Amino acid sequence: MTISNLEKIKCPKGHIFEAQLISAISVSDNFELKEALIAGEVNLVTCPDKLSRTSNSIAWLK
Ligand SMILES: [Zn+2]
Repeated sequence: MTISNLEKIKCPKGHIFEAQLISAISVSDNFELKEALIAGEVNLVTCPDKLSRTSNSIAWLK
C-alpha cells in the first residue's frame, strides 16, 4: 500500500507550492520504491523557482 497526497510545500526560501508526496509506503510489496527511498530519491521536490530542493519525511509501513 502506498499513500500519497497533494500537499503544500514551503521551500527554504519561503515559496509555497503544491506537490504530490508519498506519505507512507508498505515496503514489503513495493521493493523498487523501497530502493528509491533508501537512495533518498523519494519525495525530493524541486521548487518552481528551480533553485531549491527539499525532501519530506515518510512514514514507514511494515
Ligand atoms: Zn523556492
